[in-house]
Amino acid sequence: MANAIETKLNNAKDVARNFLIEDITEQCVGEYLGFEVEGENTLTHKFKCVDKAYFGWHWSVTLAAADNSSEVTVSEILLLPGEKAILAKPWVPWEQRVEPGDIGVGDVLPTAADDVRLVPGYTGVDDLFEEKLTPQGWEVGLGRFRVLSVPGKDETAIRWYDGDRGPRAAIAEAVTDKCVSCGFYVAISGSLGQSFGVCTNKFAADDGKVVALDHGCGGHSEIVVDLHSIPTGGMVFDDNNLDTTEVSDEEVVEAEVADIDEDDDDDTEVEDLDLSVDVIDESELEVSEEEN
Ligand code: SF4
Repeated sequence: MANAIETKLNNAKDVARNFLIEDITEQCVGEYLGFEVEGENTLTHKFKCVDKAYFGWHWSVTLAAADNSSEVTVSEILLLPGEKAILAKPWVPWEQRVEPGDIGVGDVLPTAADDVRLVPGYTGVDDLFEEKLTPQGWEVGLGRFRVLSVPGKDETAIRWYDGDRGPRAAIAEAVTDKCVSCGFYVAISGSLGQSFGVCTNKFAADDGKVVALDHGCGGHSEIVVDLHSIPTGGMVFDDNNLDTTEVSDEEVVEAEVADIDEDDDDDTEVEDLDLSVDVIDESELEVSEEEN
């Protein structure tokens, strides 16, 4: 059951509206939406916000009174979102928004000191004596402060294997010959080398990229195609559709003159031929007969 102060505050909705209009422009204050008791001496009245930019929001005016005889005062005025309010998506820290492949030209992405993908590498002689290093920890740490951790390798292997250069890529499923038997496959060192290598076929889509052993493509080095088994058809001419060109009378005359000149040139060549071998010197013949 409402006490006297609560009743007093509840009846003060006009006071709340006046406070609101005084603080906000009247054009933004709409119908009364009800009240909510906040505590023994405080109560909040709600008014619809009719500003088009804040659809679904409401004004919240919290009133307070020390006792039944004291004056009602305003504690705070807020603009709050309702169920249908349009709100921005929840904030996500940038380090959680970065996705694989996001680093572009000129971008810098610092790696956290506690990144689980990395572990301290072998950087000093003392490390060798304080703790016995396993081959996995030692293998590539020389000269580097951190190297890939086991969880880092696991995560990498899963990402590569499930990606576009794993066995389930469309280009791999379309062929039977796999990278493991391809001459263009170059193995990589370390534990990741047990499942991955690098493609070196310049014609392949994955040239220069890490590929899984059971990845594959049509550029496999041992694929042989029997060219004689490929059926080919004869040459086909479409003489129903000829290309035509408009020619002017002048061009026709020029072409005819050119033909005539060409014929003349041919005659000249025939006349210019050396026919000396066919000339018979009759005087010499006569002399010969006299000699005989
Ligand atoms: S050419 Fe094809 S089959 Fe050979 S290594 Fe590259 S991706 Fe694998």
